[in-house]
Amino acid sequence: MSLKNGNDYIESLRGLKLNVYAFGERIENIVDYPLFRPHINSAAITYELAHDASTEDLVTATSHITGKKISRFTHIHQSTEDLLKKVKMLRMIANRTGTCYQRCVGFDALNATYSVSYEIDQALGTNYHERFRSYLEYIQENDLMVAGAMTDPKGDRGLIPSRQKDPDLFVHIVEKNDKGIVIRGAKAHQTGIINSHEMLIMPTVAMTENDKAYAVVCAIPSDASGVLHIFGRQTNDQRRLEGEIDQGNALYGIVGGEALTILNDVFVPWERVFMCEEYQFAGLLVERFASLHRSNYGGCKGGVSDVIIGAAAAIAEYNGAAKASHVRDKIVEMVHLTETLYSGSLACSCEGVPTPSGAYLVDPMLANTVKQNVTRYIYEICRLAHDIAGGFMATLPSEKDLKHPEIGPYIEKYLKGVDSVPTIDRIRMARLIENMTGGTALVESMHGAGSPQAQRVMILRQANLDRKKSLAQKLAGIQVSSNSMVHD
Ligand code: SF4
Ligand code: FE
Repeated sequence: MSLKNGNDYIESLRGLKLNVYAFGERIENIVDYPLFRPHINSAAITYELAHDASTEDLVTATSHITGKKISRFTHIHQSTEDLLKKVKMLRMIANRTGTCYQRCVGFDALNATYSVSYEIDQALGTNYHERFRSYLEYIQENDLMVAGAMTDPKGDRGLIPSRQKDPDLFVHIVEKNDKGIVIRGAKAHQTGIINSHEMLIMPTVAMTENDKAYAVVCAIPSDASGVLHIFGRQTNDQRRLEGEIDQGNALYGIVGGEALTILNDVFVPWERVFMCEEYQFAGLLVERFASLHRSNYGGCKGGVSDVIIGAAAAIAEYNGAAKASHVRDKIVEMVHLTETLYSGSLACSCEGVPTPSGAYLVDPMLANTVKQNVTRYIYEICRLAHDIAGGFMATLPSEKDLKHPEIGPYIEKYLKGVDSVPTIDRIRMARLIENMTGGTALVESMHGAGSPQAQRVMILRQANLDRKKSLAQKLAGIQVSSNSMVHD
């Protein structure tokens, strides 16, 4: 089967029998539902660009399994060049969508599962990796979109999975038989799930032996029996039901279209199970996935920031303030922050190393640093965009008022900026900034790919403070007894 284009992808979604709710209603036609469609359009770009001569080098790759041309989103990184191309691809796509295109979560889940299933087999003599390769080949051949499903609801954050009052607050195995397993629980804020063909389920924390029923990695179709998706609200989402201008980015929306996915005793055949109770490997899988996904953010958020910078520069022109030195300086600051994010993603890719399976992994320390920077720099970039745009962005009348025959002309007249720019263009640009820099988009930068504290835990774990102390002690001329001295 050949690579899908954007339209093939959208049409393929019509064949899914998803059980999905939004605003208290079951949504039968997910493809044409206005709340979902921008997210679908955004994911479709990842398919469309595989057929564009100017982008196919980044968006496609050669399968190491079949030797065929495949989407990079289904590829297993074979080199640091692959890791670098991924980051460049993410920025390039975000430049076109101005928002999340959702397909990277599954991409990173495929790569993490590939390497960890290999290592489980090496240690325990299981055959998960072979199964997983067959699954991967199926995904590559059919060019499917996979949602990476990691985050459990987690209940009481102070308790491990097996100590929770409600055992379902982490996904767990409730039955094993000769045909497969049955799982129960939920996955929270699932990016792109309502327009994915498959979901790849992973544990969300390291596990102890008591938690072994929770150590499960498996794949199911997104419309498998027992699966229910409840779509999440976003800032200004009702505007999608009203018109175009007030949405800001009507074509591609904002953020990823997240949902709460309930798994009500879902059967998974053995050929789709890639970890079953091997609790010792749950932490490794979480770390691999987290590092891969955190490494993305200087690419995709860098690309989104390019659009915000462009919007801020444009609105400054429309306001007649583009030449003011403080505005230029703020634009420089935004560019500097964006390029800093991007360089971090490139750096952790350059420093990638092969895992025992041959799949390449980014440098975990640098990857976590990238994401930690995103939790701060995107807020600063958005703050500067608000500063440059001006307060009118937050008090604009609606599209319906603008188009009203009696009151519309007043808006045209009194919201005019420089004479050469139509008022409606000034309004459109302000709406774009409003929607790219507001509520849901900002929170996604904070918590997407893991909350800031999760990165800080991994940064501390890899910081090798003993070595750093030893460096300082040597220079300071401090003698440290050999049993407490840690060398390189
Ligand atoms: Fe990809 Fe970025 Fe969306 Fe994550 S937030 S799925 S890395 S585009
Ligand atoms: Fe994300």
